Amino acid sequence: MLIDKLWELQQLQLDYRRTEHLLEESDLSSMLSQKIAKTEEQLTGLRGELEGFKAEEIRIGEKLDELSVKVHEAGAKLGKEEMSEDKVQKLEEKMKKLTLEKEKIEDAQGKNFHERQDVEDQIRALELLREKLRNELDNLPKSDAESRAAVKKSLPALKKEIAARKAKLPLKSKLIFESLSEKFSEAPIARVENSTCDYCHVKLSQKTLFNLHHAEESGNGDAEELIRCEVCGKILYAGTKDRE
Ligand SMILES: [Zn+2]
Repeated sequence: MLIDKLWELQQLQLDYRRTEHLLEESDLSSMLSQKIAKTEEQLTGLRGELEGFKAEEIRIGEKLDELSVKVHEAGAKLGKEEMSEDKVQKLEEKMKKLTLEKEKIEDAQGKNFHERQDVEDQIRALELLREKLRNELDNLPKSDAESRAAVKKSLPALKKEIAARKAKLPLKSKLIFESLSEKFSEAPIARVENSTCDYCHVKLSQKTLFNLHHAEESGNGDAEELIRCEVCGKILYAGTKDRE
């Protein structure tokens, strides 16, 4: 019967779609893996920078301590020792120079601190991103490269098979099947279960059910044999059992 052929054709179309979808997911998986690797790389770079800032912070701290000691020593000398005016002036100049140097280093300390914070913020953001990408990857179905290649290889044959079967269909039926396939994502046929269309779940009218059971007798082998759901418009398939 024509409807059986169409039903098989729909199964093939759905197989094709599922396979394509599977391949898309596995493309997505390799894309995510690449993104994660890139994020790791950036993280390693930033952690290196962070170590640099930490080392610099220690160096600056030591330098500041050193200067503080020198300023303190000079100050103590100035207060205690009897010395010539010339010497006092020199010592004061030295202290002024030391203080300026200290201020400069304190500026550098502040700058280093802010840059370090900036790097730490970037690291935190990247760690969150990596976490998010890892979760996405974990939630994808797994498929190894080998089975993926086999699946990809099977697609052209499936496509050919579908085209060959379509070519054998009566013209009107073929056109209806194709336009409904487009409208309903490759699934133009709905099964009838308990007198109900299993796509829109509406109880079919007595007239539709009658036509469904007598389609073969009344039809001429083309579109007249195809009974459509009055609500969603899909072609109805009663299955061999239900037809008796
Ligand atoms: Zn329906």
